[in-house]
Amino acid sequence: MANSSTHLMGYNNKYANISLVLFVLIYSTVLFVFFVPFSWELVGIAVFSYFLRIFGITAGYHRYFSHRAFKTSRIMQFILGWVGAMAMQKGPLWWGAHHRDHHRYSDTDKDLHSPRKGFWHSHILWFLKSDHNQFEIEKIKDYAKYPEIVWLDRYHWVPPTVYGIQLYLIGFLIAGPSYGFAVLVYGFAVSTFFVGNGTWAINSVTHMFGTKRFDAGDDSRNHWFWAFVTMGEGWHNNHHYYRHSANMGFYWYEYDISYYILKLFSWFGLVWGLKKPPVYVIEEGLKRDALRKGKQKYKNLSGEWILAK
Ligand SMILES: [Zn+2]
Ligand SMILES: [Zn+2]
Repeated sequence: MANSSTHLMGYNNKYANISLVLFVLIYSTVLFVFFVPFSWELVGIAVFSYFLRIFGITAGYHRYFSHRAFKTSRIMQFILGWVGAMAMQKGPLWWGAHHRDHHRYSDTDKDLHSPRKGFWHSHILWFLKSDHNQFEIEKIKDYAKYPEIVWLDRYHWVPPTVYGIQLYLIGFLIAGPSYGFAVLVYGFAVSTFFVGNGTWAINSVTHMFGTKRFDAGDDSRNHWFWAFVTMGEGWHNNHHYYRHSANMGFYWYEYDISYYILKLFSWFGLVWGLKKPPVYVIEEGLKRDALRKGKQKYKNLSGEWILAK
């Protein structure tokens, strides 16, 4: 609850209705897909645009701005924020402040998007409500000290607008205005629809369906399908149990494409200080997996067989 000593940031409720209508209208443009001739090239553009912006959300908004799971330069920080904003999920400070609260209050009354309050509430309705337009600056003051990030947060509609224009121009330069429109529809409208639903599924679906490896004290689950389509975010029970690491897949078989890309970036010095889960967390997971499968023993990280109990 805000009191006199808290400083609020966020979006002006005066424009809440206008931005809600605009958001719904832009999302509805996905329907233009039925009026644009189909081609695999366009599908490829949509898929590329989807993964580019999911990376902006998972590596940028989530692992970097919400959890400080790795370090980077000020320029790269801005780029991560910009690519995240291209996904049309408001600004990095807004997103990060609310997400930190999600971990603090996961699946309790104070959790803004627990599916215990209803599936559609957790999936999209909470995001649309103007009640949550503002947030306490103290919750994300580590990034609110950068003026360019404050600017990006306030003008979070600039990156998706620029991105839309870029997509149109690419199509236009390849084959004229009607192809420009087609690239805009597939690369932006179709792709944004899936980016949004993919991200929100982590808040809704992976708090309902999947396996619970760790006792994270909430309803978070691991789900292989959502881990694949969200570049690693679907290992959500892992993440709720230990939220500080740059990887959400804790074992070699838990694919985490965002982490692989971050690792690649680290070899080029673009990011560094990638945090990993501690040994006790990894071994706790091995033990709990063994118990769940009815096994008596598990191999710890040093290769020793340990009795599971
Ligand atoms: Zn969660
Ligand atoms: Zn998180």
